[in-house]
Amino acid sequence: MTEGAPGHSSTAIRLEDVCKTYPGSAHPAVESLSLEIRAGEVMVLVGPSGCGKTTTLKMINRIIEPTSGRIWIEGTDALTTPPHVLRRGIGYVIQQVGLFPHRTVGENIATVPELLGWEEGAVKRRVAELAKLVGLDPELLGRYPAQLSGGQQQRVGVARALAADPPVLLMDEPFAAVDPIVRQRLQEELVSLQRRLRKTIVFVTHDLDEAILLADRMAVLNLGGKIEQLGTPAEILANPATPFVESFLGRERGLRRLSLLTVEEIDLEKGPVVGPGDGPSAAGQAMDRYGTDWVVVVEDGRLLGWKWGADLADEPHGFRASVAPSDTLRRALDVILTSHTQVAVVEEGGRYLGIIDAAAIGRALAG
Ligand code: ADP
Ligand code: MG
Repeated sequence: MTEGAPGHSSTAIRLEDVCKTYPGSAHPAVESLSLEIRAGEVMVLVGPSGCGKTTTLKMINRIIEPTSGRIWIEGTDALTTPPHVLRRGIGYVIQQVGLFPHRTVGENIATVPELLGWEEGAVKRRVAELAKLVGLDPELLGRYPAQLSGGQQQRVGVARALAADPPVLLMDEPFAAVDPIVRQRLQEELVSLQRRLRKTIVFVTHDLDEAILLADRMAVLNLGGKIEQLGTPAEILANPATPFVESFLGRERGLRRLSLLTVEEIDLEKGPVVGPGDGPSAAGQAMDRYGTDWVVVVEDGRLLGWKWGADLADEPHGFRASVAPSDTLRRALDVILTSHTQVAVVEEGGRYLGIIDAAAIGRALAG
């Protein structure tokens, strides 16, 4: 029976009043959770330990059976679909990776295509393709999982989950066990992978910064899987809906918002701009307008540098610090604070867009 799920036409997963009470527990682990996940989005479930994130994820692929409620996946009632059929369309990545220790890396990645009965040549080609996709050296395919670093194992886990090209990926704190530098690289790789693959991803984490980096939308969960707020990271950081969300977002909410805004999104001051041949009167006017004793020298839209207003005959000095329009405001602020000098905004190729300072960033946060 494939009665369509009610709701948004591009809904990929829909949870309707889903509850789970573990046998012998006084309180439900998840109490009446309703959530729609759109096709092609990364939905992050974020919240403190024990709030029911893992339970929720495992109910979607039926590793755990809900006590009550309904779950729809791509228009199909998940609870009446045989679990092994359901899971063919769902990749699953967990923290401890769960690689088979006695199978090589290549064999691990090939698991699902082999189960599906693909012919040998097709499996081989797919394994090679996936290794490339997730950035695994083909040399590693013959090794065993224990012979890989944590970060490499995590890539194998992702490759294995993607092997049969499932439309849905469930990821449960997949990067929590690797060190912060590797974690950051894996997060960035997932962002770039998703840009190409456009899977429907449900990603679980207790790490707010990870949630902000990865989420198209995120649900902030309280105990019992209660959704305190649902929205884009920018919406939630700008307007926390409840005291719980506000305290979960913590004291660095402003800094975290900066990591979601880019330099090109704010109104940039052009600064005291003059042409290379301009004399004292043009320079004087420019400096008066901005209250500076220096000018920016721009020719045909390209930044040549800056000069003291009193030394217009000098060659322009190069800016020691600059940022690109695509840089985040967080990065721009870091450059401003560490360079102790004026920071120019310059496009790749040298086109001058303006100058940026801490006050401009403050205005962007207020606005
Ligand atoms: P999270 O992933 O957000 O840390 P979980 O979904 O793992 O939370 O757990 C939610 C609640 O359910 C917790 O109180 C946890 O102790 C309880 N729980 C999880 N798994 C079981 C289980 N198999 N049996 C009984 N209680 C469980
Ligand atoms: Mg968990």
